[in-house]
Amino acid sequence: MTAAIIDGKAFAAKVRGEVAAHVARLKEEHGIQPGLAVVLVGEDPASQVYVSSKGKSTVEVGMKSVEHKLPADTSEADLLALIARLNADSSIHGILVQLPLPGHLNSELVINSIDPAKDVDGFHISNVGLLGTGQKSMVPCTPLGCLMMLRDHHGSLAGLNAVVVGRSNIVGKPMAQLLLGDSCTVTIAHSRTKDLAAVCRGADILVAAVGRPEMITGDMVKPGATVIDVGINRIERDGKGKLVGDVHFDSAKEVAGAITPVPGGVGPMTIACLLANTLTACCRANGLPEPK
Ligand code: NDP
Repeated sequence: MTAAIIDGKAFAAKVRGEVAAHVARLKEEHGIQPGLAVVLVGEDPASQVYVSSKGKSTVEVGMKSVEHKLPADTSEADLLALIARLNADSSIHGILVQLPLPGHLNSELVINSIDPAKDVDGFHISNVGLLGTGQKSMVPCTPLGCLMMLRDHHGSLAGLNAVVVGRSNIVGKPMAQLLLGDSCTVTIAHSRTKDLAAVCRGADILVAAVGRPEMITGDMVKPGATVIDVGINRIERDGKGKLVGDVHFDSAKEVAGAITPVPGGVGPMTIACLLANTLTACCRANGLPEPK
């Protein structure tokens, strides 16, 4: 049996289309345009690619996009002052500070200076607490995209065994919270987990967010499981640069029931969810019904 391929690119296009239609209605009926500000400090090449692709997608769905590109030696005071201005700007509904920040900046302090209502990445401590206690929050985009694909594929996730490999604040932990919220039985695995392969083989849903190219191989996958590959790793193969996930796709797809590819799986859904979060933030700021 070969796994069904979960087409994140097509799903993301559908989500972006729904967001664009909602944005058009907001403009027509209320004269409101959602606005997203993205702040990039320094010249990390991968971050530059992400930021420009986020800006392009924002404009494509009819939102206002503002990019602030600051030099790598920007002081913390200057960055905090910019965030304070964006917090106070009523035409901006979402603020995203691209991570990682240069080492001299305190990421936690910077992220926690964003107005939680505009924290479309969902990394502010208030949103983390709200998510953890099952209250309305801004949900981190990558895990939200994974959850949407899982719900779309399975319908109900209740009672399924979910294993999340990785415990970062931006992917692993919020992913586990979301799966718990959908009544999965959740295990979080990490670098100190004993017999990772056996833990993974217990998973009906296996989410890999490790940052290690092709580490999760087919023998670690339960037959028929759904595998979500969050990893984005640039490797050299046959003298060429290639993008691979944290899952060894060719072996895993022979065992899994369904699997996300890299590229074309989780990545496109992350940006679609960023746009959806910005739309949600805009609706909440204006006291309008939220998109479903
Ligand atoms: P981090 O490096 O912050 O976290 C990696 C996690 O994997 C850690 O919890 C670590 O455990 C765990 N880990 C590392 N090695 C092993 C191992 N050998 N066995 C078991 N667990 C291990 O990464 P992120 O969460 O930020 O990102 C994970 C991946 O997702 C990366 O490839 C990243 O590029 C990608 N990513 C993709 C996005 C998308 O839009 N598709 C968005 C964000 C990230 P420990 O805590 O013990 O060190």
